[in-house]
Amino acid sequence: MAATHCPYCSLQCGIHLTPALELTGREDFPVNRGGLCMKGVRAAELITHPERLTTPLARDRPGLPLRPVTWDDALDRVTAAITRAQAAHGRDAVGCFGGGGLTNEKAYQFGKFARVALRTAMIDYNGRFCMSSAAAAANRAFGIDRGLPFPLSDVADADVVLLVGSNPADTMPPAMRWFEAGRERGARHIVVDPRETATAKPAHRHLQPVPGTDLALANGMLHIAIRDGLVDHDYIERRTTGWDAVRRSVRADWPDRTERVTGVPVADLTATVHDLATARNAMILTARGAEQHADGTATATAWINLGLALGLPGRGRGSGVATVTGQGNGQGGREHGQKADQLPGYRPLADPAARAHVAGVWGIDPDELPAPGVSAYELLDRLGTDGGVRVLLLAASNPVVSAPDARHVAERLGALDLLVVTDFFLSESARLADVVLPTTQFAEEEGTLTNLEGRVVRRRRVLDPPPGVRSELQIWHELAARLGRGKHFPTDPRVVYDELRRASAGGVADYGGISWERLDAGEELFWPCPDETHPGSPRLFTDTFPTPDGRARFVAVAHRSVTERLDRRYPYLLTTGRSRTHYQSGTQTRRNETLLAAEPVAYAELHPLLAAEIGVADGDALRLTTRRGSVVATARLTDGIRPDTVFLPFHWARVNDLTSARLDPTSRMPEFKSCAVALAPVRARSTVPDLEENRR
Ligand code: SF4
Repeated sequence: MAATHCPYCSLQCGIHLTPALELTGREDFPVNRGGLCMKGVRAAELITHPERLTTPLARDRPGLPLRPVTWDDALDRVTAAITRAQAAHGRDAVGCFGGGGLTNEKAYQFGKFARVALRTAMIDYNGRFCMSSAAAAANRAFGIDRGLPFPLSDVADADVVLLVGSNPADTMPPAMRWFEAGRERGARHIVVDPRETATAKPAHRHLQPVPGTDLALANGMLHIAIRDGLVDHDYIERRTTGWDAVRRSVRADWPDRTERVTGVPVADLTATVHDLATARNAMILTARGAEQHADGTATATAWINLGLALGLPGRGRGSGVATVTGQGNGQGGREHGQKADQLPGYRPLADPAARAHVAGVWGIDPDELPAPGVSAYELLDRLGTDGGVRVLLLAASNPVVSAPDARHVAERLGALDLLVVTDFFLSESARLADVVLPTTQFAEEEGTLTNLEGRVVRRRRVLDPPPGVRSELQIWHELAARLGRGKHFPTDPRVVYDELRRASAGGVADYGGISWERLDAGEELFWPCPDETHPGSPRLFTDTFPTPDGRARFVAVAHRSVTERLDRRYPYLLTTGRSRTHYQSGTQTRRNETLLAAEPVAYAELHPLLAAEIGVADGDALRLTTRRGSVVATARLTDGIRPDTVFLPFHWARVNDLTSARLDPTSRMPEFKSCAVALAPVRARSTVPDLEENRR
C-alpha cells in the first residue's frame, strides 16, 4: 500500500492505494484528513478501464483511421514531421501544449524539451485557461503567485470569509471541513455567485451579481469602506504603496451606482464590507468565477485592493486575500516552465540573468534559449496558418473540449501537418491526432505535485503500467534522442526533480531545499524553501512582501462593460463552470460508469421565470446558441440562479463551442464566464442525437 494523492483537483487529497487498486482517504494528510469526493473515491477505477490506450496509434493519411503502430514507428513519424516542419518553416513551426495535471517533473521537462530539444518559443498550457488572471494580479500586487499564501486549514480561523466565484462544496468537497469548522465556532460566510450553489446555500449571505460585474462589486465595496471609515490606514502606511491613486479611482463607485451595475442591493454591499472590516480575522477567496473574464486580472486586482485596504494580507492566521487553484497541479504546473514566458522557478524568460541561470543548469548557451512565445489560445488560434505552428505536441490536455470557441480550435487542429497527442484515453482531441502516444496513469508513476497551498506532495507508484505504455519523461527522452539532444533528458523522475530544484534555486518559486528525502520522511514543505535546513514557508506576507521594497502594491482598476453585447437575438447571459460529478474536460470522469450515470449529459440551469418566458419545462431539451456555436442540453430549473442567466457545466464536448475567446489584455485569459446567448426549446425528435453526441 502506498501513501499517495488523488490525481484530480488542486486539493491533492491524500489517499492510500494498494496494488489491487483499493483506494481510501488518508487520515494523516492534513488537507483532507481522510475525506474524499465522489470523483476521488473512484479515481483508481480508470487504471484498468477497457478504453485505456495501451499501444501507440497513427493515421497513415488524413481521413484514414488511427491504427496501432510500434513505438519506433510512432516516434519516427513524429521526429520526421518535426524535422520537416522546422526545415521548411523555422523552429517555431513546432509547438507544445501542456496541462495543469502533469507532475512537476513533467511540466519542467516539457518546458525544457520545447526550449532545448525543439528550440521553439511556441509552448503554453491549459493552465492559462485556469489561473492566469489570478497569477498576474498576485504577481503585480504581492510579487509572488502562490494560490493560497497560507495553509487551507487557516480558513477555520477566519471569522468572516468572502468567497467570490468559488464553489468548493461542489468542486472540492473535502475542503469544506475547514469552512464548516469555522461556521461551527460562529464564523460568517458570504458567497458571491450568480447561482445559489452548494457553497452559497449554508452561507450567511449570498450576493448574486450579474456575471461580469465582480470588478464593479469590489470597487463599490472599497468605496463604502472609505466612506464609512473602515480602512486600515496604519496597515496601508506600513505595508503598501499606491493607495492614493486607488482611493481616488473609486470615488465615483457610489453604492447605488454599484447596485445598478451589479444587481446587488446596497444593504448587502454595506453589511458585507462592515463584516469584513470589523472581524478579528477575515479572508477574501477568489476563483474562476471572478477571474475567467476579459477583465479577469483587473477583477482579481480589485479584490486584492479591497483586502489591502482592510489590512488583511499577512495580518495573521485566518486573514488574507487568496485564490483557489483548480487543476491537480495547477500551482506547480505554472512554476516550472510550461508557460510561454517562463523558465523554472517562476523566472521570466525575457530576463538575461534568469536565462543565464537556467541555461547553466541545462548545460546550454543562454543564446540558444528562444524568446517568450504566445499564450495558449493565441497558439491554438494560429495552428496550421502561415507563420503558425505546423506540428503540435499536445500533452495531457483536451482543448477540443476545454478551450473557448472550441469548434474553431478543432478546425485549427485539423489544419496541422501533424498533431501528436499523449494521453491515456482517446480524448476528443486525441481522436483528431495523427499520432497518439499512450501514457502512464497516476498509480503507475513517481513524482511530485504542488497543491493549492504551495505544499509539495509525493505521487507514488503502486503498480507497473501495462506493457506498451510509457511515461511522458520516456517519450520526450526518445524524441530528444532522435533530435540529437537525448543526453539532456533523463527519464528518472527523481533525477529530473533534483535538476528542477537546481533550476528553481534562487527563483521566486524556490524548491532548492525540498528534497524527496524530506518529503518521504513526512515533512510538510511549502515553497519557497531555499535550502535543506529551511522549514519551508507555509505562511507568506507575515512581515514583508516579496516585492523590491517589501510592500504590497495597490493598482487602480476601473469597471468597464467588457461582457459581450446582449441584443434581441442573444438576449441572455451564459456562464459556465464545473459540476460536482465531473472533472475538467471529462476525459476521465465521463468514462467512469457511476459518475456518468449521475450526470450523463450536459444540463443547463435556468430560473423558472426564464424557462416560462422561453417555453421550456424541467427536463426538456434546450438549445443554447451564441455568436460562435449551438448546443442542446437538458433544462434543469432552479430558483437559485439569476433569472437573466443560464449556467452550463463545461465537461461535455461542444459546450465550449459557445464560449468567447476574447482575452484579458494582461493574462491572456479567455472570457469563459460570460457571453450573450439565445435560448430556445427543442421539440423535434431529430435533435435527440445532439444529446447523445454530448454523452461522451
Ligand atoms: Fe480528488 Fe479533489 Fe476530490 Fe480531493 S477534492 S478527492 S483531490 S477530486
